Amino acid sequence: MGLEEKLPDGILLANVEKLVNWTRKSSLWPVTFGLACCAIEMMTFGAPRYDSARFGMEVFRASPRQADLMIVAGRLSQKMAPVLRQIYDQMPEPRWVLAMGVCASSGGMFNNYSIVQGVDHVVPVDMYLPGCPPRPEMLIDAILKLHHKIMNEPLGPKRAKRLEDEKVELVPSTARFAK
Ligand code: SF4
Repeated sequence: MGLEEKLPDGILLANVEKLVNWTRKSSLWPVTFGLACCAIEMMTFGAPRYDSARFGMEVFRASPRQADLMIVAGRLSQKMAPVLRQIYDQMPEPRWVLAMGVCASSGGMFNNYSIVQGVDHVVPVDMYLPGCPPRPEMLIDAILKLHHKIMNEPLGPKRAKRLEDEKVELVPSTARFAK
């Protein structure tokens, strides 16, 4: 956001940060990205029973350019990894990633050559959600925790610096997926 660099430091910025972060967390738009069985639970979360509209995120976007949250729902194969990375790179900043399920978080029970052992080898992950599969209620819990994280994020250069400090080192075998 170009204005962020021009904001003065101090009390005013603290209040602006809260307001901007509140608007960001209240309108997270997830990119449609279901990879395996966990995606069924993610789809259930999008159904009326769980009322994702109360979080402002009832619209799963088909285009990454209109989304700011990637819920990686399911195991990630080596073949799919470059696609995931490309979609992530097409999402505008600020953006967040939620690894849904044990497969996305760590490879889970698929400890073999064809599955990436955690999507954090390919994209930086903001929130991990365990379980096989996690229930929609668990996804809601992870989203609320992500909201909390977003509410406490700084803006502009401070945010860029924090992201730089938290930068995930891609493991050598998957570094080729990064830009
Ligand atoms: S965590 Fe379980 S439900 Fe989710 S993708 Fe892996 S095997 Fe499927």
